[in-house]
Amino acid sequence: MKIGIIGAGLSGVVAARELARRGHTVELIEKSQSVGGRLATRRIGDGQADHGAVYFTVRGEELKREVQSWMSANWVRVWYADPYPRYMGTDGMNGLAKHLAEGLTVHLNERVENVQVEGDRTITIKTDVTIRSYDRVVMTAPLPQSFELLGSLVDQIEPALHRLVYAPTFVGLFECAGDVQIGIDGILDHDLTPGVLKVVNNRQKGISKTSLLSVYMEEGWSEEWYERPEEETLAEVERLFQEEVGDIDILSRQLKRWRYAQAKDVWHEPFYQVSYHPIYLAGDVFLESDDPSGRTRFESAYLSGLRVAEAIEKSMDRLGHS
Ligand SMILES: Cc1cc2nc3c(=O)[nH]c(=O)nc-3n(C[C@H](O)[C@H](O)[C@H](O)COP(=O)(O)OP(=O)(O)OC[C@H]3O[C@@H](n4cnc5c(N)ncnc54)[C@H](O)[C@@H]3O)c2cc1C
Repeated sequence: MKIGIIGAGLSGVVAARELARRGHTVELIEKSQSVGGRLATRRIGDGQADHGAVYFTVRGEELKREVQSWMSANWVRVWYADPYPRYMGTDGMNGLAKHLAEGLTVHLNERVENVQVEGDRTITIKTDVTIRSYDRVVMTAPLPQSFELLGSLVDQIEPALHRLVYAPTFVGLFECAGDVQIGIDGILDHDLTPGVLKVVNNRQKGISKTSLLSVYMEEGWSEEWYERPEEETLAEVERLFQEEVGDIDILSRQLKRWRYAQAKDVWHEPFYQVSYHPIYLAGDVFLESDDPSGRTRFESAYLSGLRVAEAIEKSMDRLGHS
């Protein structure tokens, strides 16, 4: 039995680890040049900055146990606690994804274009590089991106799932001169200038040699500015950032635009099987039915990956495969 996983973000990597641990042949297909998806860290000059997930929190016992082992391996640590711990990748959030993907088969720089059911059970994935066949397929991209790949199979998906809406997010990355100080721990996230959601100093966070600041913009602001020219948007992010932190000497600036940063609504099952086909949708938007927070986040992506792997294992047990 061969399992293909589209997307090597957290949910895809967690599903792949779990299935590989149980002895299955697993391949991840990822359009980017690195694993991690929204666990994203960018190198700029001598420094680096997280520009996707800022940190993660832990509510459930499963992730709690896993995080203990990640801490022992020095992959993550507590950044700060107010009052509950905010965990960060010791070398950036993307570093954690890379550690988790160690030993897995990942086809990078390969964009999936189409997913089709051949005959009764075989799934064919056409990418911009080749054609691959699997017995089971897990799709972990944000839902609108997954739907685009499914062709007419998309009609077999519940309409409510089509109605889930994602919000964009702009993140400005500013390389600053000297030792800039942002709050006590390197983060400001309360009562900020309208439009600004968070300001993070990656040097104080402990992942950058230089004062690289990540400025996260609010959902509403990002929606409003989404179609504007990049230069104009970056200039406005910089203006609001300066208004927040005062006059800072900026050496370089970049803008990251996330089309699908976080879903506004969630699905209250940890994955979704496309009709009776061996195709599963997973990712952070799929929450456990008793999820206490009701929000998409690192932990929901982690649990979705785990649950879809368990379901696939179970479906194979029923067929008598190992
Ligand atoms: C700006 C921002 C800030 C955030 N802050 C936080 C935070 O502080 N705390 C927190 O808990 N969460 C935060 N999140 C959310 C968190 O990052 C996500 O919940 C989690 O990383 C999602 O993982 P995933 O595997 O579900 O999806 P993704 O990480 O999006 O993975 C999907 C993967 O699929 C790949 N892909 C898509 N289409 C194709 C294709 N056609 N072919 C091949 N590959 C494809 C993508 O490249 C990507 O790697 C933040 C997200 C963003 C964007």
